[in-house]
This record gives sequence, structure tokens and C-alpha cells, in this order.
Amino acid sequence: MTPAFTSTYGSLPDALFSRQSATPVASPAWIAVNTDLAGSLGLPADWLGSDPALAVLGGNAEVPTALAQAYGGHQFGSWNPGLGDGRALLLGEIVSPTGHRFDLQLKGSGRTPYSRGGDGRAALGPVLREYIMSEAMAALGVPTTRALAAVQTGESIYRDAPTPGYTPGAILTRVASSHIRVGTFQLRAYHRDISGLRALFDHTAARHFPTAQGPADLLSEMMTRQADLIARWTALGFVHGVMNTDNMLVCGDTIDYGPCAFMDSYHPQSVFSSIDRQGRYAFANQPQIALWNIAQFASSLVPLMPDADRAIKEFTGTINTFGDLYQSAKDRLMTAKLGLPCTPAAVALVDRLLRIMMDIGADYTLTFAALDRPLNHPDHLDWLRDWHALRPDHDQIGRTNPQVIPRLHQIQTVIDAATEGDFAPFRALLAATTAPMTANADFQNPPLPHQQVAATFCGT
Ligand code: AMP
Ligand code: MG
Repeated sequence: MTPAFTSTYGSLPDALFSRQSATPVASPAWIAVNTDLAGSLGLPADWLGSDPALAVLGGNAEVPTALAQAYGGHQFGSWNPGLGDGRALLLGEIVSPTGHRFDLQLKGSGRTPYSRGGDGRAALGPVLREYIMSEAMAALGVPTTRALAAVQTGESIYRDAPTPGYTPGAILTRVASSHIRVGTFQLRAYHRDISGLRALFDHTAARHFPTAQGPADLLSEMMTRQADLIARWTALGFVHGVMNTDNMLVCGDTIDYGPCAFMDSYHPQSVFSSIDRQGRYAFANQPQIALWNIAQFASSLVPLMPDADRAIKEFTGTINTFGDLYQSAKDRLMTAKLGLPCTPAAVALVDRLLRIMMDIGADYTLTFAALDRPLNHPDHLDWLRDWHALRPDHDQIGRTNPQVIPRLHQIQTVIDAATEGDFAPFRALLAATTAPMTANADFQNPPLPHQQVAATFCGT
């Protein structure tokens, strides 16, 4: 009854991973199961939610294909060759009825050779945060990893932040098109492991870029996906928070919902991560950082090319087009939010509105969800007049701008209640945010001053 996992990743050279079992937990119990997702993946009916599934997704069953992936990464700009799945396990892969291959990964499943000082576990709060954020992003049409299940371990774990103390442990089952990161390539290149790098490249090309004719082509397709992805984040006011190269998937899906947030009031320099003191990963910096990460990816592909100097020249030419790619993707999405075709006049209106919103700290989501509502700003009446003059398509506005996004303060409420054993707020917020286009008075409001959450923490 348990699905048979395959493992194409496991046939790559040994340096790319370590075979590893999950560390069993005291008493696993379901928090949430995503039956819709299970259905679209073609998992056996009734498996998810069953005791055998709980043993597998709680880490208490042997899964022969399980492994921890090795990777490196630039963390806040500094190279670290010692990363990898320190608290995660790739259980294996499944092929959906539509022929797409997906990874099933446990997050919080115990120590691995890449755990460094960590306990290999995940705390309940971050597991619930990732569950809600990733499912909301999927419902908003953003390429992303998904949440298939969340399980309580029945064990307590110690965390320093946000306040030092014990907190319930949990395990998230994450589904991804793959978990191949920019940092996975970087680590092979760093070790001058050319045969490993080539095997990883061939695997990635076959899996995600079947039409790419070699590294230059793959780089350019990967970059196009990233430009589109970051533009979608921008259009939704989403701040990823920790865009290290180990947190960027080559396939172009969003991954690692740690210190992330949707902005409430609009400001381009919004930062939420408690450890991002310089604002490196601020909202407005995300396109530049993506480009920086793509440049690291390009560098790691150079050893695959016959002539390094020519490759660097060619790759540089490719990378230099990122700005235009991003800008046109963003302009398309932002003008659509105003219900307008992408013309220079519409783009100018977007800029004027954002300026107004920044001046008064208007709520990002609510402003676009109700564009006709007057804002308390001297330029807004003129803006409304000029916008109406372009005859916006209101149906399109309704289809494009979400009414409900998971807000930081709501996630905090969910986590606080769940830590006390009450999961009703989690289920309610999940239901509201996975129907983002439906007006919902209970979940639309921005935080009151005393509800505002200033920072989020990585500490899964
Ligand atoms: P992140 O910043 O969450 O993407 O994680 C960065 C690195 O730290 C990855 O290699 C993780 O596997 C590792 N890591 C994070 N938390 C833990 C933990 N509790 N135990 C072991 N490794 C961890
Ligand atoms: Mg990560």
C-alpha cells in the first residue's frame, strides 16, 4: 500500500549524497494531510492518513531509497561548502499520472552527515509556517514546493529563538519538482569534481530542461524561469528572506519558507528576517540577488565547457539580459494588476501608485484588491482619474489580485495556538489562504499595531 519510490538521484555519483535513514520519533501523530495534492500526485487512495503512511512520513519506517543530499551555498554572500540536508531526507521520487517526476522529502527527520551542530529536527512553528506559505503560493499560481503532510513527533526540541526553551517537534513532508539547488552545482565545481558535475548536469537537463542543448542553453532557460519567479514574488509583495544560493532551486520553484513574509504596508526596503541585519534580502533587492545567484550558477557550469574564456564571455552575455527579462515580466504582471494591457502609460501608473502607497504605508494586498477605494494621499484622486481614463478591465483585476494572503501576525496566532495543542486556527488560515481570490472578512485585515510581528526566525 505504501507507494514504491524510485530514485534517479540515488544513481548519481556517491559524492552527491549520503544514504541515510530517518531517526525514529516517540509518537507520531497527524497534524495535516493534503489529500488534493496526494490525488494529483497519484499516490494510492487512502494511503495518506493511514498508519503505514504515518510511519513513513513520521520517520519510523525504513525507506530503502532514502538519502541526504550534499550541497554548498553562499549564505549572505559567504561561501560555505559544508551544507546539505542537515535535517531533511529525500525519501524518493514518484511519477505523477501526468508523467511528472516529484521528490518526496521529510524535513525534521533527524541528524545526517550534514547536520553540523544541529539536532536534525524541525520545530512545530516553522513547519506550520512552511505548510501555509507554500500552499498559499501554490494557490496563487506561483511555482513552489508543496506541503503534502505535517506530523507531530511527540518529542520536545530546544530552540534559542524566538525565545529560548522547549517546543514541540514536527516533520513536514515536502514535495518538489526536485531539490537540486544552485548550491548543489556549486559544490561539485568547488571540489573540481568534473565527472560529478557532468552527471548532475545531465540529470538536471533530462529532468527539467529536456530541450536544452548544453550548459549555455540550460543557463538561459534557468534564468528565464528565475526572472519570471521573482517577478511573481514582486507582484504579490512576497519577501523570501533568505535567498542564499542553497535556497534557490535550479528548476525555478520557490523553496525554503523560513523567515519569509507577504508585506502588509508597502515599503520596498521591507525585511523580515531577524538575521538579515544589512537588508541584503530586502523586497526590492530580490531581483539583484537572484541575478547574483544565477552568476554563481553560471560559474559552476564553466568547467563543463571546452573553452573557459569563451564560456565566461558567452555566459556573461546571457546574464546581462536578466534585467530586461525581469523588468518585462514584472511590467506584465503589475499592469495586469491594474487591469491594463502592458503599455508605457500603464507602467507609469504602476509606478505612481507604488509611490503613493509607499508615502502612506498603504497595505499592499488590500490596495490592489480594492483599487477604487480612496487613499489618504493628495495625489490619489489624480491617479484614480488617469487610471479610469485607460478603461481598466475589472474582471481581470478580480482574477489577478488576491483578497487573502497569509499575513505574519495570522501565522503567529496559528503557531501560538498550535503550540498549546489547538490546531483549529491553523486549519482556518490554511482554508482561507488556499482560496486567495475569495473575499474573507475574517482573514483580510492587516495587523493592528499591537499585532504587528517585526521579525521572523530561521530556526526550524
Ligand atoms: P536553511 O538556512 O534553513 O536553508 O538551512 C541552512 C543549512 O543548515 C542546511 O544545510 C540545513 O540542513 C542546516 N540546518 C538547519 N537547521 C538544522 C537543524 N536543526 N539540524 C541540522 N541542520 C540544520
Ligand atoms: Mg535551505
